[in-house]
Amino acid sequence: MRISCAQVVQQIGCPYAAKKKLVEIDYPTNLNDKPFPKKGKVPLTLQGCSFCDVARDKGFGLTLSTSTVLRQIARLPEDEEGRKIPFELVNENSVASLAPLLSAIKDSQIRISQVNLVTRADWLLKAEPRLREALQLAKFLKVRILLAAVGLESFSDQILRNLNKGYSVETNVSAIRLMRRLKEEFPENFLYATSEGAGHGFIHPTPWDSPRTLGEARAFILAYGLNQDILPPRSTPLIIHHACALGEWIRRLEEEEGLKLKRSGSIIEWW
Ligand code: SF4
Repeated sequence: MRISCAQVVQQIGCPYAAKKKLVEIDYPTNLNDKPFPKKGKVPLTLQGCSFCDVARDKGFGLTLSTSTVLRQIARLPEDEEGRKIPFELVNENSVASLAPLLSAIKDSQIRISQVNLVTRADWLLKAEPRLREALQLAKFLKVRILLAAVGLESFSDQILRNLNKGYSVETNVSAIRLMRRLKEEFPENFLYATSEGAGHGFIHPTPWDSPRTLGEARAFILAYGLNQDILPPRSTPLIIHHACALGEWIRRLEEEEGLKLKRSGSIIEWW
């Protein structure tokens, strides 16, 4: 079997899931494909994004040493040119640690082809100087850096709040602008667009959709031309797993409002 992409673990869990926060999540505007008439809020203490079961399962575990990460990379299969095949660096804040890792890869004379990264939009912005440093190194090493998934999730502040994303639409705009600027500066080494293999997080539909949130998202997508490079061909509906914080939200709602939603395996079907 030919393996074309691998995973290299650098971090277990997510630093954002280490923070506890009391959040009030809105009642839905629609459930079971019907408008939901009541308004209210469900208070919950959350760790990480409300839809994320990584946050609930693992919290923030640990970061592995550079030598452990290098050992994993050294064991990857090679492509026809003798370089390690593309790999995803499993680290929710991978952008910040990329430059030191590339430097260690250079020193150990391992030849790599492509590193795929996943990040939150706010951490991407915060790590901009370190990402530039990493891209300079990538240029020198003739390596591609694919920003494979940035957690944009929504273009409505209300929905981002209910997802406990911890940032606003403004942060998403700045992250999109930064990705486009970096592409101009490092056209050969920086990949971020859907056509280049990225699949940025966009959760839609959600139980909080309304004519207002839909209008905001539509206007935003048009104004910033997001269909050209940022949006996946299809959005992902909000999936509520039993284990994530929204599982707790919907079970509380069922109890308070005398409802019973359908279960399908590990999923609670709100649609
Ligand atoms: S969605 Fe990403 S940022 Fe949010 S808690 Fe999960 S792993 Fe962390």
